[in-house]
Amino acid sequence: MPAALTKVCGHCGKTKPLSDFYHNSTKSDYHNGICAKCQLEVNKQNKK
Ligand SMILES: [Zn+2]
Repeated sequence: MPAALTKVCGHCGKTKPLSDFYHNSTKSDYHNGICAKCQLEVNKQNKK
């Protein structure tokens, strides 16, 4: 079994599989810097 591709979330600091990050073609690695769970929280906080 190949090693899972992981990324450290820039928000919660946890190592998560890339599948937990939203795809983002504007990022150098094509994934958001924070995981989907944190993304939802940040979106909520940014909402006015
Ligand atoms: Zn996170």
